[in-house]
Amino acid sequence: MEKMLRQFAFSQSIGNRRLLTQRDKCVVVAAAVVLLWGIESLACLATANKEAAQLLTSGSALIHTQRWAEAVTCLQRAESLDPSDWYIESQLAFALNKQERKKESFQHYSRAYQIDPSAPNLAVNIASLYGDFKDYKGGIEFCRRYLQSSGALKEENYFVFKTLGWLYAMDKQPHLTYSTYQNALTLHPNDEDLWADVVTNLDYSGGAVETVSATKEFLKRFPRSAHCEQFAARLKENNYQIDRQRIQQTAAIEATAAKKHDPLRDFVIFYNDDRTCVSESSIAIIKQGVRTIPQLFIDRLEDAGYRVMIAPHLVDALPEIGNDHPRGWTQLSTWHNVNGTFSSKHKWIVVGEKAVSINAGKEIVCPKLDDTVAHEFGHAFDYFLGNSARSTTDEDKESYKQFSHSQKFMVAYTADSAAIQDMVVQEKLRYFLQPGDGGKEELFAQLFACLYGGIPRPGSPEELLSRYFPSVLATMKEKMSSYRQDATPYGRNIKEYK
Ligand SMILES: [Zn+2]
Repeated sequence: MEKMLRQFAFSQSIGNRRLLTQRDKCVVVAAAVVLLWGIESLACLATANKEAAQLLTSGSALIHTQRWAEAVTCLQRAESLDPSDWYIESQLAFALNKQERKKESFQHYSRAYQIDPSAPNLAVNIASLYGDFKDYKGGIEFCRRYLQSSGALKEENYFVFKTLGWLYAMDKQPHLTYSTYQNALTLHPNDEDLWADVVTNLDYSGGAVETVSATKEFLKRFPRSAHCEQFAARLKENNYQIDRQRIQQTAAIEATAAKKHDPLRDFVIFYNDDRTCVSESSIAIIKQGVRTIPQLFIDRLEDAGYRVMIAPHLVDALPEIGNDHPRGWTQLSTWHNVNGTFSSKHKWIVVGEKAVSINAGKEIVCPKLDDTVAHEFGHAFDYFLGNSARSTTDEDKESYKQFSHSQKFMVAYTADSAAIQDMVVQEKLRYFLQPGDGGKEELFAQLFACLYGGIPRPGSPEELLSRYFPSVLATMKEKMSSYRQDATPYGRNIKEYK
């Protein structure tokens, strides 16, 4: 019982820095209760020096009433009378920590640990402070050494495993995060708050596969938990990330295999004829984005002289527009911030590997290059349909430059957009509701990308597009049906949303 009492006192400082702390808050409450009736008996547990013992009792009482500064003064005096008592050291460390004097707190916890390394909560507090100092690797190393010497899987190490799992998550090591948390879960298999910690911290660590596995288990075990809605949404997103990674891996493998015979060889060209200016992995992703589009559409554009131009930056291929403002973008943007466009002048679908990110304020390798090329392919096909209309037996025989400017498209677009009354939805779809030709052209391009390129993203603008523009979608499908000889079924991607 004596040992328990001391351990509870220390566990007060565990965890408010963890991402989810409900469980730890429960521990804090438990500790306060124990202290309340435990104070009287504490003195006899501690130092043999009578005056130091009295000061320790007073210091602990001050801690209990959260008078941290006075507690520190009191416990410092106790320490000066008996510098070899681990409990005085750890109480002092605890009060210093509460005062945000973390470096001093660390020194005193370390001193307590040197005197008596057998108390697991000292190790937990030291490891948590490593985390506070953002020295995750230091904390991990400390925990591992502690566990090696203390004989691993037992209840008193529960918080050490929990803290180590948290440190691995902060250090972005998902695999080790999960395997470490497994130990804590073995000790407390039905603890909902622990499971919620595991899911949240795995998600933070960036391990989609591990997060999906833990989330599924959570949803199965705690179907009525308040976390379920949020976790289910994250499950979708993580599943999507796994799909995307798989596609990128496959694309990279195929790119290597297809080097000798590349069906896109003449269709995809490179800025300055120099393919080494863009990384192999980016080229593979862009090509994969093109490959998802039915070959018939590619052939049509290729025959008509359209090309996909890959450049380090969009403005390398189109320097003349560099400092112009791209339509529908925030006021101060220029084409330096954009990495995809269709140039009707050159018949180029331009994709830049890098652009200056407005949010990050620096140049980045652009994500989702496969989606970009599919969207710009949509703009190209819109233009192609408009320009081939006059030379074919097109039913409306009107003259328009883009199909999205046609009477048919306009009627459907006007009907659909008039029906969108919800201002939240209007804001989400702002890019596709922009006035003039912009909204219609962007909608055509994005719906094209939805239908023929990439993979659907749950909760994304694409999902909203198919829901809020049903007439436009029907009009587009009808128009594209003249190209339907291709074996690829229509709406294969968009079906997923319904
Ligand atoms: Zn666009």
